[in-house]
Amino acid sequence: MGLLDKLFGGDEDTAGAPPKFTHVKIHPQVDDGIPPTAPGFSGGTLQCKCANNAVVVTVGDQTAHNHVCGCTKCWKPDGAIFSQIAVVARDKVDVTENGDKLDVVDASAAIQRHACRDCGVHMYGRIEDSNHPFHGLDFVHTELSAQTGWAAPEFAAFVSSIIESGVDPARMDDIRGRLSELGLTPYDCLSPPLMDAIATHVAKQKGVLS
Ligand SMILES: [Zn+2]
Ligand SMILES: [Zn+2]
Repeated sequence: MGLLDKLFGGDEDTAGAPPKFTHVKIHPQVDDGIPPTAPGFSGGTLQCKCANNAVVVTVGDQTAHNHVCGCTKCWKPDGAIFSQIAVVARDKVDVTENGDKLDVVDASAAIQRHACRDCGVHMYGRIEDSNHPFHGLDFVHTELSAQTGWAAPEFAAFVSSIIESGVDPARMDDIRGRLSELGLTPYDCLSPPLMDAIATHVAKQKGVLS
């Protein structure tokens, strides 16, 4: 390998290497490769898992900050150790069918997760506290959509929290290895841009930033 390759990262060392952690399952939407974001994609519909009278939520925009989440609160498909969740402006989210089947999972939580009473799927999470850093954004699971082209997941949040769901701590190196292999940088909180957004919001509320 030449000096320039050494300095600037010749591809030989890693690009051709087979992934080592493909046996580690993260979430069905990412395990076999991550579907790409479609340029110009402008939204679609989310549907719960009920065979009859499914709840339908219409999302009128592309989502942002899509990620896999290891927290114990987000809805996950059966068998998955992570959820996949993104945000979109709340005024772009409309319940368009069978909204009478929705209940708030935990009314005391900052994010009010509206779930289908029959199948348990969370259709959207909303923040009602106008002082919350993410007020104005709803949380949605775009895997509930038949459309393709939604924003691809970009990182993994609250990775250590999967242990709280019963994952053996001894598996964490392999799980973080798989996330990195997929390009989903593992964080034990949110990503740096989102943590910065929260801290900026708090600093402005305190008056130490204008
Ligand atoms: Zn349902
Ligand atoms: Zn979560």
